[in-house]
Amino acid sequence: MNRITINLNNSKSEIYIGFDWTEVSRFLPVSGTVIITDANIMKLYGNRFPQFPVLTIIPGEGSKTFETIAELAGKLLDTGIDRSGFILGIGGGVVCDIAGFLASVYMRGIRFGFVSTSLLSQVDASVGGKNAVNVGNVKNILGCFRQPEFVICDQEMLKTLPEEEYLNGLPELIKMGLILDNHLLIKIEQNFDGILSRNTELLEYLISVSLSLKSEVVREDEKEISGRRMILNFGHTFGHIIETVAGLKHGFAVASGMVIAADISAALRMISTDECRRIKKLLSELKLLYNYNVSPDDFRSMLLKDKKKQGENINFILLESPGKAVVKKMNVSEIMDIYVSTVKSNES
Ligand code: ADP
Ligand code: ZN
Repeated sequence: MNRITINLNNSKSEIYIGFDWTEVSRFLPVSGTVIITDANIMKLYGNRFPQFPVLTIIPGEGSKTFETIAELAGKLLDTGIDRSGFILGIGGGVVCDIAGFLASVYMRGIRFGFVSTSLLSQVDASVGGKNAVNVGNVKNILGCFRQPEFVICDQEMLKTLPEEEYLNGLPELIKMGLILDNHLLIKIEQNFDGILSRNTELLEYLISVSLSLKSEVVREDEKEISGRRMILNFGHTFGHIIETVAGLKHGFAVASGMVIAADISAALRMISTDECRRIKKLLSELKLLYNYNVSPDDFRSMLLKDKKKQGENINFILLESPGKAVVKKMNVSEIMDIYVSTVKSNES
């Protein structure tokens, strides 16, 4: 078992990796807890939940709306939860986002914690204190920064994840290696079989490394002010467009976004073509690269709508080497010129 503590100005968050989730009660108040989960997790694990009221949402990104928050708030009131209450989210990224946001706004904020059940949420979404819901197809537009008191990441729970959901979590793990730690990348490259067979000890190790790297970044720049946290967006500028336009799942869209960002890094001679090839090989051997249909014109017009854009410029995350990311302010036309002349022609 590994524990990582994230101490911030006015909050403390404990992350437990390789910890038996059924022991979660020891972190909960004796009364006043409500559990939020989705129907899939309820079916698989509900009989082992602690004895508290359970509110169940429909699985999937479609539930991440303000309507869900309002509906759940009504149910919390019916259950008699007051300011001393506690919300325990048990589920993947969707459940954690909803539970964290609800807990942050209900009665101006009550306590909360997570049992994180999907690979994507264990390596990324449930740690870092970003809570949000979507408006239409604009993702995470209503939200807040607030840290959960605890996040339990039990790798045994990953065994029941459908294959596609499991693979969809791997790109964010690889991202942490690409932006911050070449040793993590090497460990991933040396252990394809163990990763694909979901070896519990191996996953505990990889998730621990990834989360301690992420928590370091969050400690330095919780609210994305200094810019340090921006490197976590590696692969996400193009990734979000691929996710929205082509409908790929978040992880797979980010995998393709990372290929584009690596190609652009190579075109700018920041990494070598061999290093770029290494990155593509890693992603393709783990079956993370899907075909998608997004034209350069679609990319251009979506880049111009990016919520992180300043004027015509975007803070684009590039690689200086595998294991080291840098933020570079780039003009949308400059990015698209490189994309069209290099990246597109690479593909054919
Ligand atoms: P994310 O990929 O962001 O974590 P979700 O919370 O929607 O997104 O989880 C992805 C899907 O996997 C959902 O259908 C969810 O019910 C399901 N799921 C999450 N954790 C598990 C698990 N441990 N076993 C089986 N299914 C799971
Ligand atoms: Zn992401």
